[in-house]
Amino acid sequence: MNMPNEQAALAVAEESAHPQQPYTGSDPTLRSRLVEAGILIETGENGLYGRSEVFEDVVERLNKVITLLGADQQAEVLRFPPAMRRHDFEDSEYLKSFPNLAGSIHAFQGNDRGHHRLLEALDRTIAVGDEERSDEWMDQQKPTRLVLTPAACYPVYPLIARRGKLAEAGAIVDVFAYCFRHEPSIDPSRMQMFRMREYIRVGSPQQVMAFRQKWIERGSMLVRLLQLPFEIDLANDPFFGRGGKIVADSQREQQLKFELLVPVATPDKPTACLSFNYHMEHFGEIWKIKQADDQLAHTACVGFGMERTTLALFRHHGLDVAQWPAPVRALLWGDAAPMIAEGLASLGTPA
Ligand code: AMP
Ligand code: ZN
Repeated sequence: MNMPNEQAALAVAEESAHPQQPYTGSDPTLRSRLVEAGILIETGENGLYGRSEVFEDVVERLNKVITLLGADQQAEVLRFPPAMRRHDFEDSEYLKSFPNLAGSIHAFQGNDRGHHRLLEALDRTIAVGDEERSDEWMDQQKPTRLVLTPAACYPVYPLIARRGKLAEAGAIVDVFAYCFRHEPSIDPSRMQMFRMREYIRVGSPQQVMAFRQKWIERGSMLVRLLQLPFEIDLANDPFFGRGGKIVADSQREQQLKFELLVPVATPDKPTACLSFNYHMEHFGEIWKIKQADDQLAHTACVGFGMERTTLALFRHHGLDVAQWPAPVRALLWGDAAPMIAEGLASLGTPA
């Protein structure tokens, strides 16, 4: 596969990458500084934080700017809770690729005897104090029909499939959800529960590739307006196990995933704040999503990591939002529409 748009995506990647320059800009003290300032609130578990008013304010303002950035897409706006149908999740093949990241929802579904056993186990658990506790009480828990959403776009594909054949124009959907990934870390930008804003494109390979290229350019434009240092790079997902390396290599080979990386907290490499994914007909095939001409639909999505982008802003512009650079404040706290319109007009790809 060697479509012009793929070359264009790679050209943007090459243009923005500066491998000859040493990697700088991360701040390993970011987590403790944010916690100390009360911007992120520790819960006692790595990767699970409370957010302060100021943090949430930035997330909401960023979200509004992303809406302006995609206003011409006439996307269907859908909002799902942070859980999805287990049935759809099972079909998605997520467990084939990322069994270690998935989270399922369990609940007590027993009778009085079961409740008694549950409380006895709980008493023993609590009795150990603050030491590492046993999970014995969870023997009484049973799987529900829900799992935690691993990426905001997952509930969308089966929904589109259930609606039947696509129109000629395909579909564009706008989602925003908390997602769960079991990857506890002390890196503040690697959370277990975090929000993803996504635009999803479903259609022909040409429609989907043009969409991804457009969003690589728009995402770069946004991050430039936010005055953050970044590069676009070819990437792969962290496929699990021995076979995972082969899948990851093939994903790179086919240039299916690009990321927009910003130095945040990790000292060795910058952090992916935006992702641009082309799934080819993977989801189309699983859920039998058909184009107007009966061919299997292709899909792509652009994901904005809301926490990561917000953390990058605090990292580069400081913990006091009042002191952020004037153009960044104008974008987030002022009238962003003319700035976005001007930025869009300067881009190569048509709306
Ligand atoms: P992915 O589906 O892995 O490409 O993720 C989409 C976007 O979600 C990434 O570009 C990140 O900005 C964000 N993201 C992924 N994993 C995490 C995490 N553990 N904590 C915070 N943000 C994340
Ligand atoms: Zn997605």
